[in-house]
Amino acid sequence: AIEVRDLHKSFGSNKVLQGIDFTVEPGQVVCVIGPSGSGKSTLLRCVNLLEMPTQGKVFINGVELTHLDADIDAARRHIGMVFQQFNLFPHMTALKNVMIAQQRVLKRGAQEAEIVARENLNKVGIGDKCDSYPAQLSGGQQQRVAIARALAMNPTLMLFDEPTSALDPELVGDVLTVMRKLAEEGMTMLVVTHEMGFAREVADRVVFMDGGVIVEDGPPAQVIGDPQHERTRTFLHRVL
Ligand code: ATP
Ligand code: MG
Repeated sequence: AIEVRDLHKSFGSNKVLQGIDFTVEPGQVVCVIGPSGSGKSTLLRCVNLLEMPTQGKVFINGVELTHLDADIDAARRHIGMVFQQFNLFPHMTALKNVMIAQQRVLKRGAQEAEIVARENLNKVGIGDKCDSYPAQLSGGQQQRVAIARALAMNPTLMLFDEPTSALDPELVGDVLTVMRKLAEEGMTMLVVTHEMGFAREVADRVVFMDGGVIVEDGPPAQVIGDPQHERTRTFLHRVL
């Protein structure tokens, strides 16, 4: 589970997050939507402490990550993260890209790491691309390597920050299909996305952020289908 309590984050005088509260229960999928600059990426980065919150608490599976004595590395091991930019090593094959963190961080041997890497590349539908280098793969395939790389670390929850935003439109579906499958398997997921179709179909809850606060939080049929706030309606008019 992910729990965020009264989370604030400022960069200098720029108050980017101004008191965020929400919970993602185990097995839930929560989609975060909102205009550019509303603090969505900052929120995700605070959840795994890539950014240190200015105030407030983050709990991952019941452990307070923001506690001074927290073992952040240990807690982070539960969290897989997928970004808009795939950040693959260009000089390594897909297989090696999925193996390397397993070997370095989890200290798995090469044999085990390779088995796990092949399993996860199969799972995301590119088992035939193990020996390809990133430059030989489409954006959608590269993003699926990045997802396989995260899954190979056996996370209990996954954070996605606009995973399909850098993709050509015809490649978006393949990545969303993988994410939908993960959700069906019961993965706990916090997903920043502009894909309203995905949010509607897959999310248990949709959180609409604007100006560093949560304006609406509820089931997709409510937040997307019947928004209560003018700001939500204005945003949805622009993206739908
Ligand atoms: P987008 O939809 O464009 O990705 P976002 O909702 O993810 O937007 P953030 O990236 O969280 O928005 O940025 C929110 C605000 O925080 C912006 O004003 C941005 O300039 C500021 N910001 C984000 N990261 C930093 C940083 N490392 N240093 C200074 N300011 C930052
Ligand atoms: Mg962002």
